[in-house]
Amino acid sequence: MSSPKLVVSSPNVQYTDDHIFAKYEYEDTLVTNKDGVLTARPYKKSLSIRTTRKVGKLGVMLVGWGGNNGTTFTAAVLANKHGLSWNTKTGKKHANWFGSITQASTVRLGLDETGNDVYVPMCDLLPMVNPNDLVIDGWDISPLNLAEAMDRAQVLEYTLQEQVKDEMAEMKPRPGIYDHDFIAANQSDRATNLVEGSRYEQYLRIREDIRDFREKHQLDKIIVIWTANTERFVDVEKGVHDTADNLMAAVKRDHSEVSPSILYALASVDEGCCYINGSPQNTLVPGVVQQAQRRGTFVAGDDFKSGQTKLKSVLVDFLVSAGIKPTAIVSYNHLGNNDGKNLSAPKQFRSKEITKSNVVDDMVASNNILYEPGEKPDHVVVIKYVPFVGDSKRAMDEYSSEILLHGVNTVVVHNTCEDSLLAAPLLLDLLLLAELLARVHFRDPHTQEWSSLHPVLSLLAYQLKAPAVAAGAPVVNALFRQRAALDNVLRAALGLAPAHCMQLEHKVPFLMNELRSGAMFSSSASPAKEIPQQNGDH
Ligand code: NAD
Repeated sequence: MSSPKLVVSSPNVQYTDDHIFAKYEYEDTLVTNKDGVLTARPYKKSLSIRTTRKVGKLGVMLVGWGGNNGTTFTAAVLANKHGLSWNTKTGKKHANWFGSITQASTVRLGLDETGNDVYVPMCDLLPMVNPNDLVIDGWDISPLNLAEAMDRAQVLEYTLQEQVKDEMAEMKPRPGIYDHDFIAANQSDRATNLVEGSRYEQYLRIREDIRDFREKHQLDKIIVIWTANTERFVDVEKGVHDTADNLMAAVKRDHSEVSPSILYALASVDEGCCYINGSPQNTLVPGVVQQAQRRGTFVAGDDFKSGQTKLKSVLVDFLVSAGIKPTAIVSYNHLGNNDGKNLSAPKQFRSKEITKSNVVDDMVASNNILYEPGEKPDHVVVIKYVPFVGDSKRAMDEYSSEILLHGVNTVVVHNTCEDSLLAAPLLLDLLLLAELLARVHFRDPHTQEWSSLHPVLSLLAYQLKAPAVAAGAPVVNALFRQRAALDNVLRAALGLAPAHCMQLEHKVPFLMNELRSGAMFSSSASPAKEIPQQNGDH
């Protein structure tokens, strides 16, 4: 079903053949604390926002293309592109993009003349790549073609696999960079499709692959996503990872703490491609971020936020904002796919444990009535490998909270996740949003120069467990704050005010009358007259 075309009619918005220009008043409040008195000073800043309308041809390269996420994502793109249907024991199913916020969620645009909310698909707000037009390529240390790898993954219905397998059999992952020191030893038997040579040679080879893909398909833009196995963290060292120059020097001297993922990230950035880290490891060291800044491209990470953590970042936000104090969060998982096998090794589990553990920190820190400074709930994460359950991960969480007069409230959640079916739509959203955000530029109206967003694309946080942010910026994990940030930036690019949920038209009667009569527009068009202060007004 196609939705109506959206046009913003406003003196603040101008459409040209190439761009959408919006004049926008950005508002916030500066709070200062002097001698125990908090002073709140609202401020406003005029911004011009320019969005390039031409979307261009987008290619995606997946590191770990032959894995469960890589094959599921590829099959989902093909199933949607070809409008496939397949029979199952519960009836005929049709391709969709459920789980993708760009394709299957809506944004409230405003209200109609009678006061009813009007929603549009997120992908209709601003020009976005159509998933059917994506070109896919990638690397894997396992040599299986994508059809064989999809079969190995055991994620998709057989009747769907049958329909995409011929096309996927033609897709062969390029050799990957393997270092047995970074992923679990239990992965070594599949590591037979490898880029040989020193780290510098491997980096050069990945750059060549990217150029080859670009030329073969005449692509305007390529985005690289790491969806390969979780690596152990690198030991970040001064003089090695701290600057772009030091990092490249370390690559050239084959330094052992330069991980495969850092090589992919540097190669991507140096080819002008955005690099997104879908696993927990600390690939985005300062040297990588600095190089992205120099090359005028973007990075984002870390670790897809698909199931348990997504729910946690909603539930804890709800509890803390309801004035209820979570005191113990215990998360237990078991999974039986290759990701689970890799995570059964201690160092790789540790990477996952770190990204899963910090996800409630911002919510806890937001409420100093419930928590003393530095106080945190007990938070334990367990992951066990149980081959029988395959990709159908079980996540069991117990949230114990302190309620009125020290009572205890306990919530227990059991989630059967279907891991890769949750992750594949996140890959799509990350791609489409990263591509769009690279086309959005900001300017102070008094200057000539347009600037891009910060090279660390923290607006992608909704899809990521441990969002990377600009140095010194606060990390936001709360899911609906992340979503509001994204929605409101997209609205700003259309000159629309942030969504505020006040619905005053339904609460202050004269506002509804103005909406119905159209007076809303005539009064806002003419400058407001000053009204003399009445007695009792302050
Ligand atoms: P998977 O094991 O099925 O796939 C990973 C693939 O990467 C494998 O085919 C492997 O051969 C390949 N690989 C490993 N190292 C490589 C390298 N250096 N270069 C190229 N290829 C390499 O795992 P998956 O289920 O697809 O998950 C992928 C990653 O996404 C994991 O790190 C996982 O922790 C992360 N993740 C997944 C989910 C989810 O599935 N819901 C959520 C969050 C994070």
